[in-house]
This record gives sequence, structure tokens and C-alpha cells, in this order.
Amino acid sequence: MRPHWGDGTLTPEPPALFESAPRESEAQRGEEKPFETTSGFTLAAEYPVVSVHVLGTLAHLDRAFEYAVPEALDAVGPGMRVRVRFSGREHEALVRARYARPKTTKPLAPLVKIVSEDLLISEGMFRVCEDIAKRYAGSLSDVLRLAVPGRSAAAEKAHRARVERGQGVNAHADEAAHTRDSGIAQARLVYREKFAGLGAFLQHSRGGDLTPRAALVLDPVDSWIGLAIESLLSLDDDDGAIILASDQRDVDRLARALSEHCIAHVQFGSAQGPHARYTAFLSALEGRARVVIGTRSAVFAPVKNLRMIFVWDPDDDLYEEPRAPYPHARTVALTRSFHERCSLLYVSRAPSDFVRYLTLAGTLAALEPVPAPHASTHPRIELMDTYLREREGPSGFSRLPSHAHAVIRRGLANGPVLVHVPRAGYAPALACCFCGTKALCVACHATLAAPARSELICSVCARRYGHYRCRECGGADLRPIVLGQERTAADLQRSFPEATLHVSGGASGIVDDADVHDGDLVIATPGAEPQVEGKYAASVIVDAAASLGRAEYNADTETVRRYSHVLGATRTFENGGQVLVVGPDQHPALRSLVLVRSNAFIDRVLGERAELGLPPSTKVIEIRGERAACSDFLERFDAPKSAEVFGPTEVDAPGIDSESRLVLRCPVARAQDLIEAARATMLVRSAKKLPGTLRLQVDPPHVF
Ligand SMILES: [Zn+2]
Ligand SMILES: [Zn+2]
Repeated sequence: MRPHWGDGTLTPEPPALFESAPRESEAQRGEEKPFETTSGFTLAAEYPVVSVHVLGTLAHLDRAFEYAVPEALDAVGPGMRVRVRFSGREHEALVRARYARPKTTKPLAPLVKIVSEDLLISEGMFRVCEDIAKRYAGSLSDVLRLAVPGRSAAAEKAHRARVERGQGVNAHADEAAHTRDSGIAQARLVYREKFAGLGAFLQHSRGGDLTPRAALVLDPVDSWIGLAIESLLSLDDDDGAIILASDQRDVDRLARALSEHCIAHVQFGSAQGPHARYTAFLSALEGRARVVIGTRSAVFAPVKNLRMIFVWDPDDDLYEEPRAPYPHARTVALTRSFHERCSLLYVSRAPSDFVRYLTLAGTLAALEPVPAPHASTHPRIELMDTYLREREGPSGFSRLPSHAHAVIRRGLANGPVLVHVPRAGYAPALACCFCGTKALCVACHATLAAPARSELICSVCARRYGHYRCRECGGADLRPIVLGQERTAADLQRSFPEATLHVSGGASGIVDDADVHDGDLVIATPGAEPQVEGKYAASVIVDAAASLGRAEYNADTETVRRYSHVLGATRTFENGGQVLVVGPDQHPALRSLVLVRSNAFIDRVLGERAELGLPPSTKVIEIRGERAACSDFLERFDAPKSAEVFGPTEVDAPGIDSESRLVLRCPVARAQDLIEAARATMLVRSAKKLPGTLRLQVDPPHVF
């Protein structure tokens, strides 16, 4: 039986990856004593040792183990899925390397079985996974399970049948070349003219000595899908690419556009079932589609000849993997770019703290747009203070000032109108009654939230506040920044009875792009905005104060990110587009919407975060679990000098009796020391089989 090498051709060569020296001569081999194995099988004649990573083991056993290759399993090679006996049970494992002599002196047990001869994972991807495990204080075994989906025998069989029907790669390449030409003919290549350096970025993405990594911020008029297509068309026919979007609806929109441009692609989705996921995985592995698109799990796709990873809206928290070790897709993309030498492009609508930090550090190049009149790139943007709204008096529009009413009416005459409301159900921050400054803990700088009990306690470091003094004005009284009423829909329907009203997001579900027509009024929460062709004639953002008042350190940048998508969904000023923001008009976050194409706000934010010791200037690790386990962790934890340790504190988690949490923090330059120290403590706990499970998360999203 010959191994199937996964690229559509059958290559009877020995595995390409050897840990030690390659082929030894017959003479050399003859001199060496055969190594010890357990009995009952015949050893393969050549390269009879494999190292494997066992899937689903305990944290302290997370390393490579050696096994003997029986003659019957001579087809085994690096990247294959096998079964092995491990601590008394059979486990699946992935083969890392095959070689001649073991490193261990213990007798080797034989492999039990080859589960699949597909080469599921390359050495490059093993290294990416190792790096991710290291960055996130996790097990390689856990990361491998994110990178290589569970096998679906049915999907594998169907896939094999397709391959045997001779739908080979070469036929596909011809087709691809043809479609690429017609795709280029259809697409207007506009973005390389617009963003300085994009042309060079795309050129270098095709290969060569440089591996370009860059970020760009789109104007509202720009289309990320248009940019993605232009980027794909600039690659060569056999170049692979991954395009990530955080939201499945964005992936679907991209898929439609790629089909229109005849660009073959395969979809990966976090929501796919095991069969669909494994089919997509095998298709990418085989190189049947050079372009993989999808949500966060697509970042691990085994794309052949990977040249570029394109990440749309890298700050969206949907990119956070919910399974251990909780890696963020944008970080996996960055890691792959380094290990696999593929280019990386982060594309956002608003300057991002994460991206800007990497840009200032020199990791990414910023591709700036060439000057253009704002009327051609942006809608008209107006800020309206709640104070002015209140001055208009108690008209029938308690939710919206009459100016907003006028903007909506004008918009409805020209097209659809979007009213953007914040999502309900988050903890409101506390602010100074006098000057409105958000209250931060004086010890750890976490945002203080309205207390569930009577006493004000910091949720991170457990500092108790008998009284609080505002750091800006010295005021002693705090109030929660409250969310306005959820009455927008009812109010609007009363005010605009002729307009068809769509409510998108929350309990009412998400409205389809195609269901919105001219003269329709859409009320949407962040991320649930239908993207209408021809865009909205006007948009009104309400309750900006509530969005900015969320008890999270990044409420300001997150608000700007969400609002920038509203701007992107609205027509430009020269096409009559207008956006009205109802909220605190002097807030720097809202001012930044008017100061188009400026990094002033994001740089100010990064400066403040550095001063307060908040990410991305610091690395934060959260450890959650039972109180006793947290305390035990703390006892064993050997904190590096640069680290701060907060807690353990009790966490209010619905449905859980009592959960505690520890927060560790250090300057980002010392991050690896802290991560390794935390990991070491987890390994000791695992090896001693201590009671209580702890969940360790690096870069937890909602701690400060
Ligand atoms: Zn104050
Ligand atoms: Zn605190």
C-alpha cells in the first residue's frame, strides 16, 4: 500500500521530514544494535521509529512520544493520523516525524493503526501550533485539535471517490487560470491606486525574499470584499490564500462575490457540522481550491502554497476561539505569517488598538490612503449631544431628538435608513456625577461597575471602596452610566407609519440584506446591520453614551469600531449620505468619527492605556475556577518580578455557585516569562492530579 501524499499525486518517496540525519548507509545501519521494542510484531525495514503527538492527553504529558513502526504499517508518515496505546488506553495521535533510531532508551510499543493516510498536518503547521500553545499557555494537543478537525469517515470516503473519478488538480489549475483572466477583466483594480504601498504589498505576496505584513483602514466608501477580490486576483494561479471574516454573513457575502468573479474557493465555518468541516478540510488539503474563506476556524486551513492571509475586521471578538487555549484568529494569522512566510493584511474600518500597536512596533506596515475629498469617501457626519436633545422638550419622540427625526425623514425619501442601537445586557460602568469621568480602580485600573451588592468592590483586585474620589475633579459621588430605554422600535413605528420597519439583532433575529428596500427603516444592533446594495441614505446612531459607558477598558475603541461599520454602510456625502450620532459630542471617541483618517484618537488611547497598565501595553492572564484551586495555584505560582497578581476574587457568574478568579498582569515585553510561569504551575497541578479544574486564559477579553 502506498501512502497518499495529500496533494493529489502518489509519491512513493520516504517522508520528507526527518529529525535526525537523513539516510544512513547500509553498512552504518548494520553496525548498530537493533533497539528494544515490545514483542509480538515485525519492525518495518526502514525508518522504524515515529514520534507522535497524542491528542487529548493531560497537560503534563503534552510532548512528543516515540513508537515503533510495524512492517504492516510501513505506509505511515509525518502528518498522518494514527492510533497508539497510551497510558493503558488507545488514543488518536498525529505523526510528527519518522526516522531510523529512537531517542529514548525505553522499549518502543508499536503503532496500533493508521487512521488516515492523508497528510493532515505539515511540519510548518506543527510549528505554528507549538507557537500558539506557547503564546496562550496551552497544550499543543489542544491546539492540534483546533487545527485538524475530527475525522469524518463518510466525508473521507466521499472525498476519496471524487479524487478517484479523476477530478485532479491539473484540470482545476487550467480552469483557475481561465477564471482568473475573466475575473481580472470583470474587476476594477482600484485599491492599489488608492492605498500607497498596496501594489508593492501584493507584488511581494507572490513570493520572493520579503514577507510583507500590513494593515489598512478602509474609508466608508470602500468595500472590503472589493479589496479582497483585488488581492486574490493579483496572486498567481497556484498561489493559496485565506480570507477571514468574523461573521458568517460576511463570509456568505464574500462567497457570492467570489462566485461572480469566478474565483474558486472553499468555505470553512465555525458553525459547520463534522462532515462539512472535514470535507472542506480535505478539499483545502488536496489543493482543490486555492482560496479558503471562512470564520475564525479557517485561519488553521491547510491551504497549499499559502501566500496570503487577509483578515477583515481583526478586532471583532467573534474571532476569539471559545475552546482552549482560546487563541484569537488574528494572532494565529500573524503566527502563520511568520512560520509559513505568507503575507498578512489586516483590514479594518477604524484604527484598531491591536493593529496600531503592532504598526508602531514595526511589525506591520501601515498602508495609507492617498488624499481625496472627504465628500467622495465619507458620509456627512454630525454629532448631537443628549443635552441638545433634551432641550428640544418633551415631544412625541422621547427616544430621538427632532433633528434625528428630520434626518430619518429625509433619508427615507432617498433610500433605506438605518437606526443603530446598542445591544442590551451588559454591565454599566460607574462615572463621576460631576464631570462624567469613568471610575477606575486606583489599584489596578479596572473599570468599576455598578455593584450587585451594596458595597463597591473592584472585580479584578478586590479592593473595597468606602468612598471614591474622581481622579479628574475629586468628586465623591458616582452613578451608573445607564442604558436608555429599549423603546426605539415602537417610537419609530409611530413616527413613520408608512415606512416598512425591520428590527435586526437580538431576540428578533437578523434581517436579510435582500429584504431591505428603498424607503425601509432598519433598527439594528452592532453586527446585525443588513448590508444593502446601494447603501443607506441616512443612518442615526442612538444611545452612544450607553455604548461608551460599558464597563470594559476598551469600550471607547469598540464603540468607534462598531460605528465605523455604520459609516461604511451609508452613502457618501456626495451621494447624499448622512450619519447622525446622538451622544456625548465632546467624547474623544465620537470626535474621532468626524476627524476622518486620523490616528490622533487611537494614539491617545494607546498612551492612556500605557499609563494605566492596560492592554495592549500589558499582558493579562485570567485564571478561573473553584476558590480552593485558585488559592492552590497562587501558593505554587512563582511570580516573575515584573508581574502583578490580583485576587483571588469571587466572580458573579450566572448558574455557577462560586467561582473565583485570579488576574496576572505584566508589561508586554515580559509576557513570555509570565505565561511560562503560569503554564508551569498548571503543569505541576496536572502532574499531581490536584482537585479542581482551572481555566487559564491569556488575553481574556473582558477583565479590565
Ligand atoms: Zn469627576
Ligand atoms: Zn482593582
